[in-house]
Amino acid sequence: MLVGCTALVLTVTGTASATASTATTSATARPGLRDGLDRQVLAAQDGWAAYGTGTTGGAAADSAHVYTVTTWDQFKAALADGGSAPKIIRVQGTIHADEPGCASFAVPGYDFATYLKTYDPAVWGRIRNLDNEPADSPEGLRRASAAAQAAYVEANVPANTTIVGIGEDAGFTGANLMIKGVDNVIVRNLRFESALDCFPQWDPTDTAVGNWNSEYDDVTVYGGTHVWMDHNTFTDGAHPDSSLPSYYGRIYEQHDGELDMVKGSDLITASWNVFEDHDKTTLIGNSDGAATAAVDRGHLRVTLHHNLYRNVLERAPRVRFGKVDSYNNHFVAGGDDYVYSYGIGMESQIVAEHNAFTLPDGVKAGTILKKWKEAPLTAADNYVNGVLTDLIAVHNTQVPGEILQSGAGWTPTLRTRIDPARAVPGIVDHCAGAGHLS
Ligand code: CA
Ligand code: CA
Repeated sequence: MLVGCTALVLTVTGTASATASTATTSATARPGLRDGLDRQVLAAQDGWAAYGTGTTGGAAADSAHVYTVTTWDQFKAALADGGSAPKIIRVQGTIHADEPGCASFAVPGYDFATYLKTYDPAVWGRIRNLDNEPADSPEGLRRASAAAQAAYVEANVPANTTIVGIGEDAGFTGANLMIKGVDNVIVRNLRFESALDCFPQWDPTDTAVGNWNSEYDDVTVYGGTHVWMDHNTFTDGAHPDSSLPSYYGRIYEQHDGELDMVKGSDLITASWNVFEDHDKTTLIGNSDGAATAAVDRGHLRVTLHHNLYRNVLERAPRVRFGKVDSYNNHFVAGGDDYVYSYGIGMESQIVAEHNAFTLPDGVKAGTILKKWKEAPLTAADNYVNGVLTDLIAVHNTQVPGEILQSGAGWTPTLRTRIDPARAVPGIVDHCAGAGHLS
């Protein structure tokens, strides 16, 4: 199967080289496969990240800006070196951003048992949130501890960077890559095992029964542009939600998203990734509020193709504002906990075409779409358990309380190859994810 997957990659790269040689961009500025994985660039026309200047990451790095790293400290040092000069960071083996352990981040005086006693709904109630708690309160000490963890596990990626895994077992545990306010980043061939928030915050006012809220996506694109996420695996791995405890009758949620894109992020292609064993997978736009709308409207343009969504519960993705093209993906719902795949949020313009869905008995096709706001979408040529299915019609029949309208109002043109939807499970299951590019 590996040979078949490699052939697929060559096909895509060949298209890029052919296009580059006839375009004004020189062949040396856009090297192809022959120059090695670490200098590959996004193919012309391959999704929204190909729009405008395209996405080349650190392909033009000089030899002084090519790093091979095996530890979190080395990785963060490489990120911090050289400003926005093109750089390539080659990750070897698994890097453990969570190695210090939760206890090392706790500030003096922080005690979880005291926290639980203080904010027990039977004592504190469910009317006030904890935002105004002073620094020396249990919540204040939690905040300070959380800040220490954030400073350690978050890593800011500079502009013009390629981060690429070498071999079949490269990746991170407990890391949160932040692509914040920068342009032109490539992340490939890496396995991300989700960070565990050591200090989730209790919010008594989040729903009628309260919620534990946590930080740290695997990768956060925050106002970033021209980002290509390719052949990565995102998973809760050894720490699935089912292993997490409950307090106050609510799950002690320690995960956030796998790949979130927020705050005016734009021009992103996520291809051939595996998103698995997770609850809230991908958020595109994180608020309906006026301030957020002002930065998100006209942005959040994202292409998602040839990704495998396996045993994820919701947000695959959940979209606000963006023109999002989702095609040739395979969605495999795990079971009773499955909530929905596409979340149709405020002013979203989703095109969902040529996808395949594998649902177990008891999960209705009408739940693939979830309507949060009135926002028409385009859904065509999608197969559910091998049967051509009109996702909008089946939704409107099975969920009559929330009628969806058809017609996203735009037609994607940035696609390099479209596989027949019925062939998608065979292709994507065998070729998506980290470990297939070496
Ligand atoms: Ca969160
Ligand atoms: Ca997030």
